[in-house]
Amino acid sequence: MDTAVVWFRDDLRVQDNPTLADAVGDADRVAPLYVFDPDRYGESEYGPKRTGPHRARFRRESVIDLRESLRARGGELSVRHGDPERVVPAVAAAVDADAVYAQTKPATEELRTENAVRASLADRGVGFERRWTHTLYHRSDLPTPCDDLPDTFTPWRKEAEAEASVRDPVPAPETVSGAANADSGPVPTLSELGLDPPTDDDRAVLRFEGGETAGKARIEDYVWAGDHLRNYKETRNGLLGDEYSSKLSAWLAAGCLSPRWIHRQVGRYEDERVENEDTYWLVFELAWRDFFQFQFLKHGGAFFTPGGIRDVDPDWDHDRTAFRRWADAGTGIPFIDANMRELNRTGYMSNRGRQNVASFLVDALDVDWRWGAAYFQGALVDYDVASNWGNWAYQAGVGNDSRDRHFDVLSQAEYYDDDGEYVRTWLPELDGIPGAAIHRPWALPSSKLAEYGIDLGVDYPAPMIDLEARYRER
Ligand SMILES: Cc1cc2nc3c(=O)[nH]c(=O)nc-3n(C[C@H](O)[C@H](O)[C@H](O)COP(=O)(O)OP(=O)(O)OC[C@H]3O[C@@H](n4cnc5c(N)ncnc54)[C@H](O)[C@@H]3O)c2cc1C
Repeated sequence: MDTAVVWFRDDLRVQDNPTLADAVGDADRVAPLYVFDPDRYGESEYGPKRTGPHRARFRRESVIDLRESLRARGGELSVRHGDPERVVPAVAAAVDADAVYAQTKPATEELRTENAVRASLADRGVGFERRWTHTLYHRSDLPTPCDDLPDTFTPWRKEAEAEASVRDPVPAPETVSGAANADSGPVPTLSELGLDPPTDDDRAVLRFEGGETAGKARIEDYVWAGDHLRNYKETRNGLLGDEYSSKLSAWLAAGCLSPRWIHRQVGRYEDERVENEDTYWLVFELAWRDFFQFQFLKHGGAFFTPGGIRDVDPDWDHDRTAFRRWADAGTGIPFIDANMRELNRTGYMSNRGRQNVASFLVDALDVDWRWGAAYFQGALVDYDVASNWGNWAYQAGVGNDSRDRHFDVLSQAEYYDDDGEYVRTWLPELDGIPGAAIHRPWALPSSKLAEYGIDLGVDYPAPMIDLEARYRER
């Protein structure tokens, strides 16, 4: 083949990128392309922006880093801002491409875009090659065809672990011979994407910097220099600091790192340092990630319906005021508000926090879980369609688990934030309250509140719901 376009999507890396490697192997010249799709930056049908400033900044940085990596190999990344259905065929025509190579993902809108691009290329006689590149296990290596996959995690994981193996990562191509007429184009600014730059907060667990280079640096810091993998499982439910969990999600979601490459790093760590349950646990978590990807392949659009893949239809509430109090960290339940404030200020929230705020919205307030999922979609730096909507559906009882997933938020707060340090970090207006008493300010006598310098309802909201009574009702 003479010329191929590599249309990068959520695979912003050169290492272990079979789409790029195959195009480089098959074609004499390669024209790499990234398209900022305005649809991804507009509002969702539920109201919030589909991409907020934290993720948009991460994405820009990732594209810039990819451009540098390709330049170092002799290639040039073209960047465009427009509808992929129009832009990809136009770039293919400009470089006289024989085929376009692209990553495929299982979610509905991504597939719709991909199919529209493919059809438009076919009309012009240009081929389309797709590659499945974002999971630990390749979909073709799973022992059971996707349509018959178990809907619960443990049987699926056990089957995959017993009968499939993780393929070796594909090396980054040494050279990428650029195509004639490739025109690089500027990376759009945040304001061109319709967003204000995010403000940085010193309390953030990490400054998530986009790009494969920064993702590899995170592995270096967390796994190698920090040596944290040896107690990963033990610390993973933490709430404060950059060390309690891997914080790899944003790089995985944008495809700056591949799960297979991370798996390889874990293997190396096990060979060179220690192999224990904690080291395995990172692979276990990557299996959760895979699980939701494959569930999307199986159930597709059902994940976006009120009753989810289980087709149960609880009577969801559509109370905008209640929803806004949740989203704006103004519920009056400190553990919920602290987590939502962290999300709003930094784009990140721990897994423990995500489970609790989701449970509060759907179990305590009965609000439509899809509103919460759509809010997370905009706010998260690590948003991934299958991980987000899959976890929300799961938490709402309409996804991959029929058990009651309801969390007692107050007990969770007292267990996981037993000294109140997390809440104190994010809600300094309550920092006069010592110890775990911070989790139930409403339970303190007014004399104590006065002693701690807090006027409930003025300095911090009174609770929007009697949570203890709500849990007793269940
Ligand atoms: C309501 C809700 C929404 C979520 N939305 C997202 C999302 O949009 N994007 C996202 O990457 N994760 C999502 N998660 C999963 C999980 O909370 C994050 O992956 C994790 O907190 C990211 O931090 P980490 O990288 O330090 O994870 P670690 O705990 O170190 O885990 C390592 C990696 O495993 C994967 N992983 C871990 N847990 C899960 C899980 N439950 N589901 C899927 N993958 C998992 C992630 O890729 C993660 O980076 C969501 C969870 C909940 C409860």
